[in-house]
Amino acid sequence: MGPIQDLDAGRFSSWLYSMSESIIENKEACVPCGECTACCRSSLFVHIRPEEINTLASIPKELQFPAPGLPKGYLLLGYDSSGNCPMLMQNKCSIYENRPITCRTFDCRIFSATGIMDAADDKDLIGKKVQRWRFSYETKTDIDMHSAVQSAAKFLCEHQELFPAGFVPPNKLKLAVLAIIVYPVFLGFSASQRIPQIINLIKTHKGWKVLFSQPYK
Ligand code: SF4
Repeated sequence: MGPIQDLDAGRFSSWLYSMSESIIENKEACVPCGECTACCRSSLFVHIRPEEINTLASIPKELQFPAPGLPKGYLLLGYDSSGNCPMLMQNKCSIYENRPITCRTFDCRIFSATGIMDAADDKDLIGKKVQRWRFSYETKTDIDMHSAVQSAAKFLCEHQELFPAGFVPPNKLKLAVLAIIVYPVFLGFSASQRIPQIINLIKTHKGWKVLFSQPYK
């Protein structure tokens, strides 16, 4: 087996602006996936909303399951015994044009950016991919932003007990999204100001309620 090749994740600040926008607006992520289908082969449940009419019409009914804890109409697409999404055929998404919003907005670079998925996940397909992404830093702003994002993720992981119960999600992706939302707090506030600032930021964040009222990949 040859050496593991790095993958160009792009300039950090550009990626962060675009990811932050995607979280607020639920916009499609522009990820240079190439031939990679790791996220389609990683035993993940894909959430589908009731308004995703074309997506729901493209997926056989027997593959749709009610999403636990959510109102009627919110569904999950599961995976087969190999961990593959049943809509993945010949290593391609067979419903690409109508794939769920969850798939359109997923960007595994969020784990590289936050450091939340690390070498411990080496056996995991997404974990392997995540270790290959390399961001570039054109100015000090890029470096400071990345440092703030990683500090936010670390702080949330290490100080969960300081927040209201359930505030810090156990799910790695939701935790990474939370770190992206609150990173500005780690650019300019003192340690004692951080917790109230984080809570205030979340209360006023447009995308938070939508994202966190639903299961995510
Ligand atoms: S629906 Fe398509 S893009 Fe989404 S996980 Fe399945 S195969 Fe991948």
